[in-house]
Amino acid sequence: QPAFDPSQSTIFRRDTTRGVATQQLRLAHDIAEALREEQFEMFYQPICDLSSGRLAGFEALIRWHHPVEGMVSPMDFLWVAEQTGQIREIGLWTLQRACLDWPVLRTRINHHKPFVSVNLSPSQLTGDGFVGEVKTIVSDLQMPPRELKLELTETVIINNPDLALQLLSKLIEAGSTLALDDFGTGHSGLDALHRYPIGTMKIDRAFVSQMLTSPHSAKIVQASIELAHSLKMDVVAEGIESEDERLALLELGCDYGQGWLFGKPASLKNI
Ligand code: C2E
Ligand code: MG
Ligand code: MG
Ligand code: MG
Repeated sequence: QPAFDPSQSTIFRRDTTRGVATQQLRLAHDIAEALREEQFEMFYQPICDLSSGRLAGFEALIRWHHPVEGMVSPMDFLWVAEQTGQIREIGLWTLQRACLDWPVLRTRINHHKPFVSVNLSPSQLTGDGFVGEVKTIVSDLQMPPRELKLELTETVIINNPDLALQLLSKLIEAGSTLALDDFGTGHSGLDALHRYPIGTMKIDRAFVSQMLTSPHSAKIVQASIELAHSLKMDVVAEGIESEDERLALLELGCDYGQGWLFGKPASLKNI
């Protein structure tokens, strides 16, 4: 998970008279209510096969329709949920929701390896419970396990690398696939690649959005794609906003693309 920066947060910036602790407490209270009142919604963003241009999958991204604040970004509340432990309930909900929505999403896809990817939070992977939950959800819904991709960053494994490796291996055994999110940033680097059974690399938007103006970023993107392929991983470029970026990535042999060029995250009813 990207580190939280209070100065970037609209929900916090609005209320500078109170201390962060008070605001955190209020937010934790609101999150509990949001879970009860079903104020969360999953949005889905297309991920396209760059060579054929075909839709291959979707990333599930959580949205919060706050009764007072309006739409609250996940960057603004997930870190609080992480601290309070509420992230486990949220995480389970997102997983369930994405798998429940999958049959509808699936009908939009005409690709040989269709998938929906769900983001994992650090404290979701601290016990055996999680692996069982994933297996139960997938089998109850009769979903082919390989169609569920779990996205993680190094922050997911950093606290307890041995346990994480054990749990991630169990998920792979159960048939799910893993993607390393935000590759190239401090959250995900080479260490994660060589240690964990990860099938997909997602190159962070920071590099993609600069690759046409900075030769340095372009080189990093190129080297990342080569590295992934030499490790038999496939690659998703995040944050593609222009046709020129798409063409440059296609030229470099990148497998998949995600970004506003293909579509913004949207409610299931608009997909
Ligand atoms: P992420 O997993 O790296 O997700 C990609 C983020 O980039 C999303 O932001 C998406 O809306 C945004 N994005 C995609 N394409 C473009 C583009 O072309 N241009 C720009 N400017 N942005 C683009 P979002 O939805 O605000 O999510 C932010 C982060 O919050 C995610 O980063 C992920 O780390 C976390 N997150 C979101 N939903 C969940 C969830 O259900 N569970 C967990 N644990 N984390 C989540
Ligand atoms: Mg992600
Ligand atoms: Mg990402
Ligand atoms: Mg990212």
